[in-house]
Amino acid sequence: MVQDTLSSYRKKRNFKKTPEPLGRAKKRTAKAPIFVIQKHDATRLHYDLRLEIDGVLKSWAVPKGPSTNPKDKRLAIQTEDHPLAYANFEGVIPEDNYGAGPVMIWDKGTYRSIKREMSMSDWFKQGHIEVKLKGKKIQGDYALIRTNFPGKKRWLLIKMKDQYADARRKPTRTENRSVVTNRTLHEIEKDAQ
Ligand code: MN
Repeated sequence: MVQDTLSSYRKKRNFKKTPEPLGRAKKRTAKAPIFVIQKHDATRLHYDLRLEIDGVLKSWAVPKGPSTNPKDKRLAIQTEDHPLAYANFEGVIPEDNYGAGPVMIWDKGTYRSIKREMSMSDWFKQGHIEVKLKGKKIQGDYALIRTNFPGKKRWLLIKMKDQYADARRKPTRTENRSVVTNRTLHEIEKDAQ
């Protein structure tokens, strides 16, 4: 059994009106944990980074998305835990629903914790995560550091120096298609009409 931390996720949504998954917290110990980065054109365009920890997807809204330049510090605002099934969600959240707008699976893969002394769950509570991401667009080491602002929801997403660090690549600007369906956000929106 794993503690279900999805009540906030469920409260924000009416599952009769949104195609998003209801989902449940589920521990999958045998497999490598997953991550997903969803491009989401809601009130404001942003990227949602989600890491599988404790049977759910711990989530951050990253307004500018991930950078491959170690000099960039990208603001990452912690949001409510999402169910694992959300990693497969691509589509349009209808108008008048929470987060209304198209959602694209911009990148997806597995990760591992770089620091082995504690569990991911404990690093998350500490506010200091270092992971090696294995996606299609985003690879290598990233740090997520919680800042000391009141409320403690503000983190920074930083590329760590490794062979994948690249100050010129700018993947959020040049790679704008789904890794699952190869569609742009506009095409996802059109297909839902
Ligand atoms: Mn979002």
